[in-house]
Amino acid sequence: MYCQHCGKEIKDKAVVCTGCGHPVDSVGDVEGKTVAGEPWNLLMMSGLIVATLFVPPVGLVFGIMGLMDEAKKVQGAILTTIGVFMTLLMVAIILGL
Ligand SMILES: [Zn+2]
Repeated sequence: MYCQHCGKEIKDKAVVCTGCGHPVDSVGDVEGKTVAGEPWNLLMMSGLIVATLFVPPVGLVFGIMGLMDEAKKVQGAILTTIGVFMTLLMVAIILGL
């Protein structure tokens, strides 16, 4: 196998690379990792929910952004739901229903 960090060929059972001294990651571990961002923190999430209540498109935009990010999927779903609900509510109010 080859070192993930410097590309030097090392023994399969090596724990530390002899070339750069970096700990060797198991190949499966590295390949299994998905690149995902961090979930929004509580302050950001609260801000987005409040913003969505007043300006529904904010929730739709950030909701869809969240849905596309593994780490923000649940938060994205929440924002999208609130965004859709508030949009419908606002349309109903505007149409005088
Ligand atoms: Zn190395």
